[in-house]
Amino acid sequence: MKKLLSIVVPCYNEEETIPVYYNAMKEQMKKMDYVDFEIIFVNDGSRDNSLNIMRRLAKKDKVIRYISFSRNFGKEAAMLAGFKNAKGDFITTMDVDLQDPPELLEQMYKGIVEEKYDCVATKSTSRNGYSFLRKLFTKMFYKIIGSMSKTEMVAGARDYRLMTRQMVDAIISMDEYNRYSKGIFSFVGFDTKWIEFENQERVAGTTKWNFWKLFKYAVDGIVGFSTAPLIFASLIGLIFCLIAFIMIIVIIVRTLIWSDPVAGWPSLVCIIFFVGGINLFCSGIIGEYLAKTYLETKKRPVYIIKETEDSVR
Ligand code: UDP
Ligand code: MG
Repeated sequence: MKKLLSIVVPCYNEEETIPVYYNAMKEQMKKMDYVDFEIIFVNDGSRDNSLNIMRRLAKKDKVIRYISFSRNFGKEAAMLAGFKNAKGDFITTMDVDLQDPPELLEQMYKGIVEEKYDCVATKSTSRNGYSFLRKLFTKMFYKIIGSMSKTEMVAGARDYRLMTRQMVDAIISMDEYNRYSKGIFSFVGFDTKWIEFENQERVAGTTKWNFWKLFKYAVDGIVGFSTAPLIFASLIGLIFCLIAFIMIIVIIVRTLIWSDPVAGWPSLVCIIFFVGGINLFCSGIIGEYLAKTYLETKKRPVYIIKETEDSVR
């Protein structure tokens, strides 16, 4: 019996890339005829023709399945939906823009079947094709989260990784609402082999991420996998108390010895603003955690499915 390999492909406004991806995967599947495939396109509320293309492909090719969301829920939700519905013995997720090279699949499959790893993951060594600022902030993000979180985040790691059923079941069992896959993959553990490759440029279309989206994603990652910022807040409070205490003593002594008159309200205003700012900043940190807790307790679904290939066939 051949094993089944499921590929989850999140798509958001990808009408240009889906056909290119499909053709590239056809080639790859021919090369890997020792295993059966199932490709699950997840339509994450695209506003273009993506869903129609998926419907057409699913009709003509049994290998293709699709799940269509009722609106855009984000890539994390799309990956989870794919994992939950995948039937394969081995499961992976790929970007549809061919930034995750299909050629690597063969090597990844060997890593699991022959070398007995639970997971073969990929990371890109360069970030060609991304803007200078994005590269800089990405680098900073990994530095910050690396020092804050016990869960290891590998710089340059992509979501493209082949996993055993067992590992994917573990990932599904983490039913948190605020999903940050890079952290979840690392949190569940299992033996992982890393493959490096040169970053590829998108074949067509444009990136779905802007600066603000990426920034929020980074905050999600930090809040989701570290409570260090909370300690940071109380630490700053403590330091400020200490400074204030020293200042009080200095002023008392100064008044007693030189009986200095009160001088300079500008400096006072500056201090009030500064301390007020720090105060708000720290409340903001606490608020961020509170907000996340609030959303978790609501137990809202991570995604809502509107249509699958079964419901239309
Ligand atoms: N994607 C998605 N939902 C979103 C944003 C992106 O399903 O809200 C998909 C997108 O179609 C692509 C993958 O996630 O297959 C990666 O997106 P993109 O290539 O835009 O990100 P980048 O490579 O620039 O990090
Ligand atoms: Mg991409």
